Amino acid sequence: MADVEVTKLAMFGGPRVVPKGQRVPPWPVVTADDEQAVLRSLRSGRLTAASSGEPEISGLEREWADAVGTRHCVAVSNGTTALSLALAAVGVRSAAEVVVPALSFIGSALAPLHLGAIPVFADIDPNTFNVDPAAVEAAITPRTQAIVAVHLHGLPAELDELRVVAARHGLPVVEDAAQAHGARYRGRVVGSVGALGCFSLNTSKNLATCGEGGLVNTDDDELYARALALRQFGEVITGNGERSYISHLPGWNHKPNAIQCAFTRSQLARFDRDARARDENVRRFLARLARLPGLMVPSCPADRTHAWHILRFRVRPEDIGLADRLAGPLRAALMRALRAEGVPLSHYQLLPLPDQPIFRGTGGHHPHSLRVIEDSFTIQKAHLHPAAGPLLDRYADAFEKVWQHWDSLTRHAEAMAYRAPWERAAEIATAEWPPALDDPSDRAPRPDQH
Ligand SMILES: *Cc1c(COP(=O)(O)O)cnc(C)c1O
Repeated sequence: MADVEVTKLAMFGGPRVVPKGQRVPPWPVVTADDEQAVLRSLRSGRLTAASSGEPEISGLEREWADAVGTRHCVAVSNGTTALSLALAAVGVRSAAEVVVPALSFIGSALAPLHLGAIPVFADIDPNTFNVDPAAVEAAITPRTQAIVAVHLHGLPAELDELRVVAARHGLPVVEDAAQAHGARYRGRVVGSVGALGCFSLNTSKNLATCGEGGLVNTDDDELYARALALRQFGEVITGNGERSYISHLPGWNHKPNAIQCAFTRSQLARFDRDARARDENVRRFLARLARLPGLMVPSCPADRTHAWHILRFRVRPEDIGLADRLAGPLRAALMRALRAEGVPLSHYQLLPLPDQPIFRGTGGHHPHSLRVIEDSFTIQKAHLHPAAGPLLDRYADAFEKVWQHWDSLTRHAEAMAYRAPWERAAEIATAEWPPALDDPSDRAPRPDQH
């Protein structure tokens, strides 16, 4: 990239590395087969899990149980309800405590809340972004009834260590694998290690539906029966024969729809191939970025595989002899510079979960989660398409160009009026709620986010 070396940063008026016309390939990919699957289901007239003889929901459940390596799978309306059902199935009751990582998607913490339970937050390991088993153990009290193990960004959590902690206290582990479809941990597919494993099929996830959906896996017959009944008003609905309308458990209506399951089944047929292509693309991309001083790229221990759902990069000034306090400003300067070059960077969470407005005051100090939020940025969705390799090559060119301007970036970082992400979050929280109910026709459409 000799020509790039002398080029001005796009942030200061130079040319962009990633041309404006180079679009992020859409996700999920929708093929003619996917369209046919949706049409077939729509025309069958059997559209819900209560429809007699409906083949797509039970088909997806069987195929996903096989893919994960569990005896059972229950398809549900989304990933958050998958977690609520799993926690209810293991017996989490109102006023119980559930240990949840301090850094995750909000759904991990809302699920226990929806049962009237209290999420108690445990800090993460700043190298893996997954929950620290020692912090989990420290968060356990006599009121704790479950541990939620999130495989954040697609990297399996320390499941063996977590299961040792859980066993010591007689607690079930529920896996939140919403970001980690197909990832393996010491030879086992995530979602098969805890008492139950939960997945999301939201369009942003590695295994998607055409909207919202979720899956719950388990090997345990009794947990399966409970999760299934809790999905559908507490009823046993066999799919053939007459429905009894007898409620055995205080269930919800979290049934999925057949069209969305048909779409996901069709996606599942090429899931492994897509995952292999993504793994190759991402590893090549990360190998180039790993050479940039002061940047920590996501990594994957040899005993597991990574689903690469989100790529999180940390900026580490202390590694290159710069002051630690520059971590946040440098991260902000790099985001500005890289976005100007055409790399779609985002924050993934401005706040640790316990600092969300709904949990404020629950206490606890989570320095690693805070630090990672301050010094990291993410790439989401752009790398999911199996043919994203050439685009990632352009992104790597952009990173390399920006790194050649390191001195001016450092000066930019030192001079900027910096606000930490959680300060921005506090301003957003005050400005956004309660919302002004403006005319919806004024709102410009925005791309999907998650
Ligand atoms: C997406 C996600 C969820 C929730 O899934 P939905 O289908 O959006 O409800 C839960 N946990 C994690 C870690 C997620 O990424």
